[in-house]
Amino acid sequence: MIERMPTIFFGHGNPMNALLDNSYSRAWSAIGAAIPRPSAILSISAHWFVDSSAVTAMVAPRTIHDFGGFPRELFECQYQAPGDPDLAKRVQQVLAPLQVASDSSWGLDHGTWSVLCHVFPKADVPVIQLSIDETQPASFHYDTAKRLSSLRDQGVLIIGSGNIVHNLRRIDWGQPDGASDWNRRFDDGATALLTERPGDILELTEHDDFHLAVPTPDHFIPMLYIAGLAAAADDTLDVFVEGPTFGSISMTSYALGADCPPSTSSAPAQTTRSSAAPPEQTNL
Ligand code: ZN
Repeated sequence: MIERMPTIFFGHGNPMNALLDNSYSRAWSAIGAAIPRPSAILSISAHWFVDSSAVTAMVAPRTIHDFGGFPRELFECQYQAPGDPDLAKRVQQVLAPLQVASDSSWGLDHGTWSVLCHVFPKADVPVIQLSIDETQPASFHYDTAKRLSSLRDQGVLIIGSGNIVHNLRRIDWGQPDGASDWNRRFDDGATALLTERPGDILELTEHDDFHLAVPTPDHFIPMLYIAGLAAAADDTLDVFVEGPTFGSISMTSYALGADCPPSTSSAPAQTTRSSAAPPEQTNL
């Protein structure tokens, strides 16, 4: 019998985390070591935010460097995990009658690979992505997640990658581990709902700080998938990374049904690179 797989939401933050040895990347490595090995990974990333539902169905997904202004070594990163066309078909089946297109042009964007390069550094677990249909309301994404739940019993690790608080207009590069009050209030509100009442997660869209914390929905929606999966399951959702970065981003990350390593608070000491220099252009 296949063990039921955990489900994880990663606050991914700065793409440079792919190269850095810091509290975030160490926590991502630790959770990878703590969970059973999945047969495949289904990723819902903030950075595949398009006007329809699609699933990557290629044998060898490319590594997409969907950002600008970062050092050359970040553009040289390749995460060469195989795809899984059979899993793509199963995703289409469990979501039917929703039309989910088979995609052969996307690949793995940095919401996926900048995290997975720490979780599964050997890139030896197949990975597919499910797009976020930007035309759909929050409730659609929450409901879609529930329908993916059976994949957990087939050895599939479902991950969401975004940031629950993500306001690039308010970013403060001088505060690598600081937060505005509204950031902390909203992040705490999210944690309370996710860990105690995930079935009520849509209440978060009525939070007083919602419009500051979520000026655009792309980084928020991946969390709704984890909330939907938590609501469909009996197991508990734990925080394994907590805290803000750069004032207006939350790195808080959650795992469902995992034996979590102790939670990491934000203190992103960078021990292998001199700095995560603020980029001129970003796509965090
Ligand atoms: Zn991002």
